[in-house]
Amino acid sequence: MRVLVVSTPVGWLGSGLGGGVELTAASLVAGLLQRGHAVTVLAGAPSQLPAGCDAARLWCEGGVSQPSWQHCGREAAVQIPAEALLGHLWRRALAEQAGFDVLINLGYDWLPLWLTPHTSTPLAHLVSMGSVSTAMDAVIAEIARSHPQHLAFHTASQASDFDLAGAPRLVGNGFDLDRYQFQPNADAVLGWAGRIAPEKGLEDAAAVAARLQRPLWIWGVREDEAYARWVEASVPTGTLEWRGFLPTERLQQELGRCAVLLNTPKWNEAYGNVVVEAMACGVPVATYARGGPGELVQEGVNGCLAPPEDREALAAAVERAWQIPRHQPRAWAECHCSRSAFAERIEDWLNAVLAEPPCEGT
Ligand code: UDP
Repeated sequence: MRVLVVSTPVGWLGSGLGGGVELTAASLVAGLLQRGHAVTVLAGAPSQLPAGCDAARLWCEGGVSQPSWQHCGREAAVQIPAEALLGHLWRRALAEQAGFDVLINLGYDWLPLWLTPHTSTPLAHLVSMGSVSTAMDAVIAEIARSHPQHLAFHTASQASDFDLAGAPRLVGNGFDLDRYQFQPNADAVLGWAGRIAPEKGLEDAAAVAARLQRPLWIWGVREDEAYARWVEASVPTGTLEWRGFLPTERLQQELGRCAVLLNTPKWNEAYGNVVVEAMACGVPVATYARGGPGELVQEGVNGCLAPPEDREALAAAVERAWQIPRHQPRAWAECHCSRSAFAERIEDWLNAVLAEPPCEGT
């Protein structure tokens, strides 16, 4: 297939502002290339093709980033800024669509979803978040009725947020596990990775680290500076160690040194890439039984679970997770989250998209 992958209009590939979508994009593109497809990536400037994606063609467009939906308020209207990157990406995608068999949208945005019945080349969407907006819920529900095959989700928990006509197509996610080195021995430190933003619940991880008197190493883009400072002030000095936003190669080296990764979503996290990345290094994960991480973590196998918002239970989960033999999370990630298996699921999905009969009246 000739595939056009339209990346997120939040930041550019490599900025970290797109969160997990950036790694998902890399995995999807590399996986499709490996299966012999011809892939073009359309993304914000100055994106660079990630490792393993050299055989893809890259088109960049400039423009103003979209505000992230999760920070707009549930009842917010659809916002498209002047000179929006979103508009530039989709103008280019529509102009070039005749050269492709299928278009894949990775952005969580109203405009490409709304475009679904109006393109001449089928337009498929890998939905990257759960429900955070009434306007997005409505357009997703509309497409779920008119073009059910054109939507895919990462996990069942994420998909359950939406009003879908039938069973959701679940594709999970995929990782190039060769890039994550198994580290059999850990330092006596806890880890946390992700965008530093309220929906990621860093304050709970900080509180648990303080309670257990273990240092917490933190990696990620400081998306919300005031929030980062508030979390810092909530625990004794020296509890938190900010280690910056690192590229995957360095992130995995440092992540692999942790005894346990804490993952503390305050929302219905769609997947939780960092959960699997830690496991791939041999690090068990302690998380809340909610969203994607709650589906990925198997108690006693690759990590431990606590009821959402229960910090005391989360601290106990960390102590249980600490005892898990480190080869177990790695083996679990190899079995369930390889890039090649993800690419096969994506290919199956795209075949279903191409086979879907056109909807009457569209
Ligand atoms: N990440 C990274 N470097 C860092 C910290 C995080 O590249 O120093 C990446 C990580 O690999 C993951 C993403 O940030 O792909 C966070 O994605 P996740 O799915 O955990 O959460 P999201 O940000 O999408 O809500």
